[in-house]
Amino acid sequence: MSVSERTGQATDVQDNASEAMSREWNWHPELPVRNSPLFSWPPNPTKIFNWYATTWLKVSERSLFALLAVAVWLYLQPALERCRDFEFGWIAQMYVRNLAIMIIGAGALHLYFCTFAKQDKKLKYDRRDQARNARSFSWNNQVVDNMFWSLASGVTVWTAYEVLLMWGYANELVPYVNFGENPVWFLLWFVVLPIWASFHFYWVHRLLHWPPLYRLAHSLHHRNVNVGPWSGLSMHPIEHVLYLSSVLIHWVVASHPIHVFFHFYWNTLGAATTHTGYEGLLIKDRNRFQLGAFFHQLHHRYFECNYGNADFPWDKWFGSFHNGSPEATEKVRERRRRMHGTGR
Ligand SMILES: [Zn+2]
Ligand SMILES: [Zn+2]
Repeated sequence: MSVSERTGQATDVQDNASEAMSREWNWHPELPVRNSPLFSWPPNPTKIFNWYATTWLKVSERSLFALLAVAVWLYLQPALERCRDFEFGWIAQMYVRNLAIMIIGAGALHLYFCTFAKQDKKLKYDRRDQARNARSFSWNNQVVDNMFWSLASGVTVWTAYEVLLMWGYANELVPYVNFGENPVWFLLWFVVLPIWASFHFYWVHRLLHWPPLYRLAHSLHHRNVNVGPWSGLSMHPIEHVLYLSSVLIHWVVASHPIHVFFHFYWNTLGAATTHTGYEGLLIKDRNRFQLGAFFHQLHHRYFECNYGNADFPWDKWFGSFHNGSPEATEKVRERRRRMHGTGR
């Protein structure tokens, strides 16, 4: 068989697989799903540069979260001198600010995609709309349920961690660095933080899938098979404490409060963007703003796969990676049968 015939056959196989997946999804990105090239062997510097350049040098969630962190530090953070003692005033100010950030962030995405259906089902992964009258949700309503857990528990735990860190800065207990002292580390830390968060998320998330902890806490997040922006941070308080504990790293690694804010937005607003259920925001029919994560959408549909995200190939290394293909679905169903005696 000639090389071209062989490649032709390979393409056919791929097309068939893609067709099978198209029956399962309203829309999906090009398959198989890719991981960050940072850990591919042999290393490919061009690919690595492109992966980071497209997420950092364009208007992206990363660059917007970094800008928001700067703005909050400059205009919306109570002066650190005030944070030396735990007092109602500055803590309440931070709490209200964080509530507003979450309501505006997730709320705007919800209004755009769900309430006003601005881009209909274009670039939407799942065909179905979010659940109303579904008994699995508090108040039988997915959006109300998701908003309640995100705001009542999510923003509270987030603010508690953030308040402790600001108190730590004010009392010089948290290691501090600023741009003037070490510009290279100051900038590099922004690039490393999402990688750290991904590493932390993988392990915490695997732990949450340990059956007792799953039943107690994580099943609440998994009520959402078909996700929306408010689903991202809709978690049980135990999960919030574990998930947001990645920020404890700032007690050890020298950071500026701007890094701390960025890290929180990455975990909280970032959860809203990755759970929109849409690949991106369309402006004049072009995918202008990358949002969703098909990688994580696969986790919500098939459960025992893709515990991490595309920033770090833990799933690939530990055999839990679902690349979006029908073979991977079969493998994951087999895994579920072994783990829970069910192959759904
Ligand atoms: Zn999970
Ligand atoms: Zn999720």
